[in-house]
Amino acid sequence: MEQYCPRCQEKTVTKSSNTSAARHAGLIGMLIAGAAASYTCPACGKILLGEFPDEFQSSVKRKRVFSVLGAAAILVVLVGLLMLRSSF
Ligand SMILES: [Zn+2]
Repeated sequence: MEQYCPRCQEKTVTKSSNTSAARHAGLIGMLIAGAAASYTCPACGKILLGEFPDEFQSSVKRKRVFSVLGAAAILVVLVGLLMLRSSF
């Protein structure tokens, strides 16, 4: 999804996240890193989420909720599998 920079209105921002840390932490780390990602404009630098229009902010927040829920669901499944294994 392309979003124009709220400061210069000329360039599109890029989402930046710490991918090397995410790779080490696996799928859950990837989800969390995606949720914590920041946005950068090539001309203005780092842009805070609060500077974007409300519509964009709410769509980002919605995605974050899904990421957290996804990570939680994976954890629940993993714990469930471990408990099943240990009961046999
Ligand atoms: Zn800009």
